[in-house]
Amino acid sequence: MEGGASLEPETTEVLPQHKFDTGSLEAYLNQHLPGFGAEPEAHLTVAQYRSGQSNPTFYLQKGYQAYVLRKKPSGSLLPKAHKIDREFKVQKALFSVGFPVPKPLLYCSDASIIGTEFYMMEHVQGRIFRDFTIPGVSPAERSAIYMAMIETLARLHSLNVQSLQLEGYGRGAGYCKRQVSTWIEQYKAAAHQDILAMNQLFHWLMKNLPDNDNEENLIHGDYKLDNIVFHPTESRVIAVLDWELSTIGHPLSDLAHLSMFYFWPRTVPMPNQSSYFQENIGIPSMEEMISIYCRCRGINSILPNWNFFIALAYFKMASIAQGVYRRYLQGNNASENSFLFAKIVQPLAETGLQLSKRTFGTTPPQIDTSQQFFVQSKTGQEVLIRMKHFMKQHILPAEKEVIEFYVQNENSVDRWKKPLVIDKLKEMAKAEGLWNLFLPAVSGLSQVDYALIAEETGKCFFAPDVFNCQAPDTGNMEVLHLYGSEKQKQQWLEPLLQGNITSCFCMTEPDVASSDATNIECSIQQDGDSYVINGKKWWSSGAGNPKCTIAIVLGRTKNTSAARYKQHTMVLVPINTPGVEIIRPLSVFGYMDYLHGGHFEIHFNQVRVPATNIILGVGRGFEIAQGRLGPGRIHHCMRIVGLAERALQIMCERATQRVAFNKKLFSHEVVAHWIAKSRIAIEKIRLLTLKAAHSIDTLGSTGAKKEIAMIKVAAPRAVCKIIDRAIQVCGGAGVSQDYPLATMYALTRALRIADGPDEVHLSAIAALELRDQARDMRSKV
Ligand SMILES: Cc1cc2nc3c(=O)[nH]c(=O)nc-3n(C[C@H](O)[C@H](O)[C@H](O)COP(=O)(O)OP(=O)(O)OC[C@H]3O[C@@H](n4cnc5c(N)ncnc54)[C@H](O)[C@@H]3O)c2cc1C
Repeated sequence: MEGGASLEPETTEVLPQHKFDTGSLEAYLNQHLPGFGAEPEAHLTVAQYRSGQSNPTFYLQKGYQAYVLRKKPSGSLLPKAHKIDREFKVQKALFSVGFPVPKPLLYCSDASIIGTEFYMMEHVQGRIFRDFTIPGVSPAERSAIYMAMIETLARLHSLNVQSLQLEGYGRGAGYCKRQVSTWIEQYKAAAHQDILAMNQLFHWLMKNLPDNDNEENLIHGDYKLDNIVFHPTESRVIAVLDWELSTIGHPLSDLAHLSMFYFWPRTVPMPNQSSYFQENIGIPSMEEMISIYCRCRGINSILPNWNFFIALAYFKMASIAQGVYRRYLQGNNASENSFLFAKIVQPLAETGLQLSKRTFGTTPPQIDTSQQFFVQSKTGQEVLIRMKHFMKQHILPAEKEVIEFYVQNENSVDRWKKPLVIDKLKEMAKAEGLWNLFLPAVSGLSQVDYALIAEETGKCFFAPDVFNCQAPDTGNMEVLHLYGSEKQKQQWLEPLLQGNITSCFCMTEPDVASSDATNIECSIQQDGDSYVINGKKWWSSGAGNPKCTIAIVLGRTKNTSAARYKQHTMVLVPINTPGVEIIRPLSVFGYMDYLHGGHFEIHFNQVRVPATNIILGVGRGFEIAQGRLGPGRIHHCMRIVGLAERALQIMCERATQRVAFNKKLFSHEVVAHWIAKSRIAIEKIRLLTLKAAHSIDTLGSTGAKKEIAMIKVAAPRAVCKIIDRAIQVCGGAGVSQDYPLATMYALTRALRIADGPDEVHLSAIAALELRDQARDMRSKV
């Protein structure tokens, strides 16, 4: 099977010690599980999953229906373990908010049916990778799979425990201390010999508990690759399995658990693994994993207690291994290889002890990285070469045809359509894998990689569209990818990623200063199972595209008690919903920008959408905006570096062709200086763009705030100047339709407003600079 993944459940005959009365189960399910009896003639088959060390898990098939049953093991059990009612409860809560888990169906506490309590869930068809090296896939796909796994973990940890209604699911502050106590107790209850390293590690952990042991997030407890079901063909998580150890606690314990394979002792065989961790095969390094995770959560990637969590992960694993061995001795374990677990307790404890003493740099050093920030990955280099080739071979030669289409159709109803050549180019780009490169989870590219690729596409005004990397769809896809429910993803993200539909983003309003988004007034109010939207928006880019099907609308949900940044909500509104009125397109310096679907005024009059269209939750609009304007925030900057290169190229061509006052234009010193100054400016903004991209890669968008704001001011200003010089060198032709310079100027000048006004960014930069200066002064005292 490709990628070492299994699509069919990895099952075997039910082990003798786990056999139960299937007749009794069938009778019970017929009565209690809706749809189970839909094919009364069909025979119920039961097989046991090979995995599922702790709670025996079974694959049930009846006709076309496939289910999964999980039960307690029988026999005497360790206290507090195997709480399958909790598994069911947490899956139910997560399913209700669209987090990817198998749909929970029923829980049965009646031990008389199959001998123990059990629960049922739907079977999820997808790929499970047992081997963490994922043999048989390309490094890019491997990287994308890891990205998706890390992003899903960050998403889990970003969920609000109150809105999941899981209060009381954990035991409040003090999680780390409780963990250390629990695992020592479990170990002692199961120990068959005394292991010194276990005791030493226990004492070290107790002495080094994090100061702020009060983080309260929903955590999985056993988050790892083989507990995740990926989409059958895409690098997308469709279900996270095995919630037995989930609780409310410190999220870094999950991340540390996931990072264990980096340090796995070479003396201990890794179950189901073909090799130990190695670099350069697409698996992110531990530092990269931490950086991606922190970026997704918008937290600082310097993790002061990282060695505590890594040591705890090994301590816990050693204790679990001891428990598995004990159940083996009792003849009560799902796996026939469980006797091997006795041998690994000590090396795991010793590894934990070593790691406890290690000083981790969880983020690449802050100093001396200035020379490294434009290091591309191998994949990035390879994609860039292919992109350059595609631009030269296919995109630039089509430019004339595209421009002619818009000139010819200026007064026709077809002016909002796209010329056929664009669809043809899209098909080619998709076939070549130059598609959705902006989304790291799909492309496996870093921001630095993408910066240089986006620069290439910026050289032609329609190129980003060809590669499905055009604004505002990129930002909207990022929102749905990071915050959308499974249903929202299926309904809107899938077709957006395929390029079958497009979208618009409706934030700005004609009646309020929208550079301060807390001013937004459009109302989003609940009415039964729906939300009703009323308000006026404008500058909704892309709304004129005939394929534009969905709008993400930012509005206010009245709640006087909520803080200023918690009153706004984002909601998905299908464009064809009654009450959505497309009023008029707005011109940019006289241009209608047909190619990008224009910029529209749209009114929302009593527009009703189901409550399931709310993204992430009511009042969480700004939380999403932070994410939306994360990596995507500098895509425009990346592209206009390429646009500036194009303008300079035009400037040089013209300056070497035309003669005025007996000499070529470039021989006039002023023109030569314009060329030189433009080159200097391009190099400067490219470096700052790459620095911002590198900061996003390593510090997350929160840590990269200052660089993001700086490049957003610097790039459009510099590029406007370069285009202005190019126009001047071209003379009258420069402002005409014979050159792309006038359009370039209009779009770049507009960016100084569209991407947030310069002044707002400048104020943010100043505030951050003052903060940094104050911090430096404090550290010197
Ligand atoms: C081509 C284009 C495409 C766009 N696409 C979209 C889109 O797809 N979706 C969407 O929702 N919006 C879009 N916009 C709108 C854009 O985001 C807003 O225009 C922008 O946020 C500014 O809001 P505003 O126009 O209400 O200006 P205002 O908020 O009224 O600000 C006007 C001016 O006030 C000054 N100002 C504001 N704040 C400060 C401050 N703190 N300090 C000093 N001066 C300040 C600045 O000079 C600013 O330019 C687009 C705009 C353009 C031009």
